[in-house]
Amino acid sequence: MLKKPLRDSFGRDITYLRLSVTDRCDLRCTYCMAEEMKFLPKRDVLDLEELEQLAGAFIDRGVRRIRISGGEPLVRRDIMTLMNGLGSRIERGELDEVTLTTNGTQLSRFARDLVSAGVKRINVSLDTLDDKTFETLTRRRALSQVLKGLDAAQNAGLHVKINMVALKGVNENEIAPMITWAHGRSMDLTLIEVMPLGEIEEDRVDQYLPLTAVRDRLEKTWTLTPLEMRTGGPARYVRVEETNGILGLITPLTNNFCAGCNRVRVTCTGQIYMCLGHSDCVDLRAAMRGKNPEEALGKALDRAMIRKPERHAFEITKRGAAPSVSRHMSMTGG
Ligand code: SAM
Ligand code: SF4
Repeated sequence: MLKKPLRDSFGRDITYLRLSVTDRCDLRCTYCMAEEMKFLPKRDVLDLEELEQLAGAFIDRGVRRIRISGGEPLVRRDIMTLMNGLGSRIERGELDEVTLTTNGTQLSRFARDLVSAGVKRINVSLDTLDDKTFETLTRRRALSQVLKGLDAAQNAGLHVKINMVALKGVNENEIAPMITWAHGRSMDLTLIEVMPLGEIEEDRVDQYLPLTAVRDRLEKTWTLTPLEMRTGGPARYVRVEETNGILGLITPLTNNFCAGCNRVRVTCTGQIYMCLGHSDCVDLRAAMRGKNPEEALGKALDRAMIRKPERHAFEITKRGAAPSVSRHMSMTGG
């Protein structure tokens, strides 16, 4: 039976959970992580049973969609145990959808298993099709592995959306070719503005490419027809008439769409972040590992709902400024 649904103090129903299963990753994207990242000790990270218990608590409170993220979720050992567990929730009608955001390096190995677990769509993050740029950007040589993974995913029947972070002077000339490539393979593509999350080596001002400018440039050669498609998230969608494919634009900096927010994020240590752009969080792990876990978890979720802020306040304007939020995206799970 559905317990009290998760609703925040602005009347927004929370039906979408983004759950990070690890802070570790086999790549080191320059906009996401520092080269030398300190990863969390194992004892701090929720085990698979705890992750499933936590997901269950959200499902009981009305969450209908769960996206598994990280770090790189497919490097988490025995991740398929969790995926299969969530898949059986879909079979029982308790959940509508489980999706995954991945860098694609492990897809050759996992694509079929994901389909068997009930996953239908995945997001693959890929910012370039150029070997050298990929290596500079991710600090690893793995483009061909990712491309093989994409083939495996599509052959297994997964619908793929490519996520591409638009980076000034790095991949801005690749945006149009990437759209043509993705749409030519029946994949959607979403462009993302870089967000000021966590300390990295570079200055965000040097990375930040406003999508308003990108859109203006694309419209010089293409017809972009706005679509009504909404997912409760920050993305807005257009159809590129010339390629007949869908292009998403995630513009947390140039345009703010917090009013319809339906989501929360939980880290692999069980901290619930009510907004990507704020540091406030509630400790669900302490609730789960303490006395009367069920009751404590319920109360912690109620606290989180009261504290969900109305909107974020990202900005990238000043050179040398501290990040808006000190934690990295790999902690919160993008
Ligand atoms: N490792 C997986 C991947 O790369 O898809 C999942 C986690 S990753 C943190 C999720 C998404 O966040 C990726 O699409 C990545 O490009 C994006 N991302 C990471 N840091 C970001 C930042 N500072 N600004 C905008 N997007 C970021
Ligand atoms: Fe890893 Fe994804 Fe962050 Fe890249 S964006 S370092 S793949 S977690």
